[in-house]
Amino acid sequence: MSPGEMKPEVAQAMADPAKSQYKGIWVYLEHAEKTPAPVSWELIGEARRLAKDLKAEVSAVLLGHDVKAMPEEAFAYGADRVYLVQSPVLRDYRTRPYARVAVELVEKYHPEIFLLGATAQGRDLASTVATKLATGLTADCTSLDIDQETKDLRQTRPAFGGNIMATILCRHRRPQMSTVRPHIMPMPEREEDRHGEVVEDEFQMAEEEVAEKVLTFVRKKTEGIPLEQADIVVSGGRGTGGAEGMDKIRRLAEALGAAVGASRAAVSNGWIGQDHQVGQTGQTVRPKLYIACGISGSIQHLAGMQSSELIVAINKDPKAPIFEASDYGLVGDLHQVVPALTKAFERLIEGQEARP
Ligand SMILES: Cc1cc2nc3c(=O)[nH]c(=O)nc-3n(C[C@H](O)[C@H](O)[C@H](O)COP(=O)(O)OP(=O)(O)OC[C@H]3O[C@@H](n4cnc5c(N)ncnc54)[C@H](O)[C@@H]3O)c2cc1C
Repeated sequence: MSPGEMKPEVAQAMADPAKSQYKGIWVYLEHAEKTPAPVSWELIGEARRLAKDLKAEVSAVLLGHDVKAMPEEAFAYGADRVYLVQSPVLRDYRTRPYARVAVELVEKYHPEIFLLGATAQGRDLASTVATKLATGLTADCTSLDIDQETKDLRQTRPAFGGNIMATILCRHRRPQMSTVRPHIMPMPEREEDRHGEVVEDEFQMAEEEVAEKVLTFVRKKTEGIPLEQADIVVSGGRGTGGAEGMDKIRRLAEALGAAVGASRAAVSNGWIGQDHQVGQTGQTVRPKLYIACGISGSIQHLAGMQSSELIVAINKDPKAPIFEASDYGLVGDLHQVVPALTKAFERLIEGQEARP
């Protein structure tokens, strides 16, 4: 469709908003109960990588109340600047005030790229801000790059049920906005002696203007070690054959001090809770060791674990695709292999503990 055939408001929205005015990469610094979300540091690391191609600065956007210690953390992870807005109204995340202040900051400082974590908070804020700014947002990106010719952000994410990877460009509007799930990007090194600039802005909004009230935080109870914090993950799939088979996975995880993961097939069968699902529609993990037991290795499962440092697969089918993504493969029946491994690890650990 040519611009002449578009509705005037669409054509207006498509017009280049003086792209050259927009400079720098922003990362939303997410936090809850004074604890920053690690995905913010992962995104600052990624922004640093992209900034080399754009010769741009990396800034973090920090909204909250009494959060003055967090900018130093952001600098240590690679931010050059922190845009800080503090107000009692911003103490806890709520869509309306956070979106309003984020939009005001974008309109004042014109960032070229704005990255947020694909978390409950980041998804909510990103979609509201992108709508208000009439710009493009690509959710759940798995990789980001700069187009060497146009300098546009190439935002890649799974599409059509994960069967293809789509690279999306936001060519006419700024900022280019993306969300990225936790653990997709590596955690950058901390540099204690890195410092930067804090730009503090005012924000006026009365508490009465906000309809939502935060009364308390209730922590979700998870079985065992949470997936996102684990250095080792032992996952079970349809090959476990049922809840009893999943118990064998749990015992191996316990012996190794690992978290328990699962494929969607195991979750859909009701053998384990949804909190444990790894993959495109589950969690993304990046542990030091990932052990996949009775999992075939569908593209949707791989999307959630293929960045693990070391992958071991146990599967009775030597042609299972999981072996192609694995560093070590064990062809065999998991009902025999997993209990044998559990015993061997238990003995090894007991032996180490008994040693003077
Ligand atoms: C939009 C969309 C999103 C999805 N999101 C996810 C997601 O987030 N996570 C996810 O996991 N899937 C997801 N899926 C589903 C995915 O396509 C696969 O169906 C699923 O991952 C298969 O799980 P599985 O590997 O456990 O089962 P299967 O593919 O059935 O594989 C079972 C494996 O176990 C092996 N096996 C059987 N018995 C034994 C035994 N005794 N010992 C050893 N090995 C044995 C078999 O050889 C086989 O390789 C999604 C699908 C779609 C369309």
